[in-house]
Order: sequence, then C-alpha cells, then structure tokens
Amino acid sequence: MLFKKSLLSKEEESRLIKAIEASELKTSGEIRVHIEKEITDSAVTACENQFYKLNMQNTIDRNGILFFLAYQSKAFAVWGDEGIHAKVQDEFWKSITDMAIGYFKNGDYITGLEKAIQLCGEKLVAHFPLQNDDKDELPNQISY
Ligand code: CA
Ligand code: CA
Repeated sequence: MLFKKSLLSKEEESRLIKAIEASELKTSGEIRVHIEKEITDSAVTACENQFYKLNMQNTIDRNGILFFLAYQSKAFAVWGDEGIHAKVQDEFWKSITDMAIGYFKNGDYITGLEKAIQLCGEKLVAHFPLQNDDKDELPNQISY
C-alpha cells in the first residue's frame, strides 16, 4: 500500500468513512480514525492525546472511540471514552488491536481498520443503540 501526501488514497479513505457511517447508523456512539506517519510516544499515549486534541470527549454519552495508526512506527492503538470503556473489558480493546495488527502485518491496513471499526461498532450498538434524536456529534472524516 502506498501512502501519498494525504497518507491514504481517496478510495482507501472512502472505505474507512463508509465503515464509520455504517456503524453510526446503528449506534449513538462516535467513531474516528487518525493516521500519522510516525510517533515517539507509545501508541496508547499518542492515541489518548489525539483523542482529546480532536475533542472526542464532547459526546453526551461519552461513547467516542478513536483508532490511531502511525504506519511508519508500526504503532496502533484504540482509545474508548469512559462511557464505552465502562461497558467493556480490557480484553476487548486488546482483541481489537491484535486482530487489526494481524492484517497490518500483511500490509493490509485498510481491512484491519475496517474490521476494527465494524467490531467496535457492534459493541457500541449493544450498549448505545441509535436514538431517535441522534446527532452526528463528531465528524466521520479521517484526520491526519
Ligand atoms: Ca451519533
Ligand atoms: Ca460521527
């Protein structure tokens, strides 16, 4: 996979945005993806910092989830806000990262992220089903 100046091709970006949109049709939870080239912190620290930089704590149910990939550093992490974190076990986050890293090892970053979005989406649906007055509280765009 070639990372251009925007890091993802239009097609790759749209696959991820479609996965986010599909999940958010069923849950009030909010999912975002952030892509970096490299990081110096640990993946979890970088992911947590980015979560707040993107103001992802600004959801009513505190149910935002951020996926963070620094492809040059081969670093990946997921950060779930306190609302969703209270509903799942640490093993859940670990199973998501392990699954995604399995794809990354084969160079398939997009499928790994797509599946991570789908699995977290299912978890969000179980605990935060879509409400009638749902708002898109956080943009579905990929951030860089
Ligand atoms: Ca929403
Ligand atoms: Ca959203």
